[in-house]
Amino acid sequence: MARPVQYNVKNEGGKPIQIVEGPQGYGGEGFFTARLSDVVGLARKNSLWPLPFATSCCGIEFMATMASHYDLARFGAERVGFSPRQCDLLMVMGTIAKKMGPVLRQVYLQMAEPRWVLSMGACASSGGIFDTYSVLQGIDQIIPVDVYVPGCPPRPEAVLDGFMKIQELVGNESIRRRNGEQYKALMESYGIQ
Ligand code: SF4
Repeated sequence: MARPVQYNVKNEGGKPIQIVEGPQGYGGEGFFTARLSDVVGLARKNSLWPLPFATSCCGIEFMATMASHYDLARFGAERVGFSPRQCDLLMVMGTIAKKMGPVLRQVYLQMAEPRWVLSMGACASSGGIFDTYSVLQGIDQIIPVDVYVPGCPPRPEAVLDGFMKIQELVGNESIRRRNGEQYKALMESYGIQ
């Protein structure tokens, strides 16, 4: 007898659950057209490769986010890597000492475009409670940041929320943005060619 498998197939309203929403476009029988930016954005946002740059306690919270209960892999970000050239999402978590600043910047520079940055927790975002001579008062002093996640430490739910904000940015980004004047000006403001 066939098993009545129906979990995770329909929602409460009886409609089929969509795994991923498709891009807007025009379709008919056997064809579908959409903007290239939307299709590329859809692929990019569901296959982000995070590079965790963890220096202290927020890193432990990130481990909880990766573990089975919260499971960042559900968002297509299963492949956490430590080689900057293959990753496209730099997740900075923890207190960044000024000594560490050049290292973080170098990791960012080694990542290929397009790349995004998520700053997790008070320390990475603003120095947190460490208002001292030795701690960087926010990583946005040395590299551009796309999304800040507040908290000390942020709970995994907050990290997931920040990650989904990144996905939103990635999905809606034009494929021309990185060649635009505005983006070049942003990079130049950080002394990056
Ligand atoms: S924000 Fe709080 S939990 Fe995160 S690294 Fe700083 S002190 Fe630790």
